[in-house]
Amino acid sequence: MCDHHEKEVNAADRRALLKSAGAVSLLGALGLGFTGKVAHAAALTRAQRDAMTPDEIIALMKKGNERFRKGKNQTHNYLAEQRKVSASGQYPAAVILSCIDSRAPAEILMDLGVGDVFNARIAGNISNDDILGSMEFACKVAGAKVILVMGHTKCGAVAGTIAGAELGHLTGLLAKIRPAVDATAYQGDRSAKNNAFVDAVARKNVELTIAGITNGSPVLSEMVSAGKLKIVGSMYDIETGALEFF
Ligand SMILES: [Zn+2]
Repeated sequence: MCDHHEKEVNAADRRALLKSAGAVSLLGALGLGFTGKVAHAAALTRAQRDAMTPDEIIALMKKGNERFRKGKNQTHNYLAEQRKVSASGQYPAAVILSCIDSRAPAEILMDLGVGDVFNARIAGNISNDDILGSMEFACKVAGAKVILVMGHTKCGAVAGTIAGAELGHLTGLLAKIRPAVDATAYQGDRSAKNNAFVDAVARKNVELTIAGITNGSPVLSEMVSAGKLKIVGSMYDIETGALEFF
């Protein structure tokens, strides 16, 4: 391919991007995205991310979930987003700690794009020293301003904990969820067959995970005290698609 041809291809690529619904994800919701002057898909620049408060970022995540559950996700050009963040660096606004459950894909259910958030996924959305280290990197080094711990309904890890499941390395992981079972005040059937109890434990597990993050990481708790970081909990309803923040 000669240089001239390559330039033509790049120009065509840019025109295609200009025509695409490039104003996506967090930026699209802010109205800061695609203007027609910028031949890129929307992805957060450092200045745009730094200009947002934690509360504003949380509000955008809520709006993204509203779009998702109404079936009105923005049109993403993921490849264009990928190219932008690979060329300019990543400036994610938040870090999400969520379950590995295939029915709870955080970026999709909040209509987020490439480069918008860090995402740690582990069964039962529990934390440990390695997760804390990842979050400290995401917030203190890379500048994320929100930690969202996301539990979900009908969580198999929570149900397994309640049922006393044991399997290889899973046994040790479920032991980290066990305190939430004990701490859940619930009158009635406290078995894994009762979805209402499983969901109540999942919610308590989110609360205890947040407490564990705050108590376990002076780096993060100091950022919270300084107003530079907010840690919030949420529960995702895998049937309705609604994400409830608390
Ligand atoms: Zn789960």
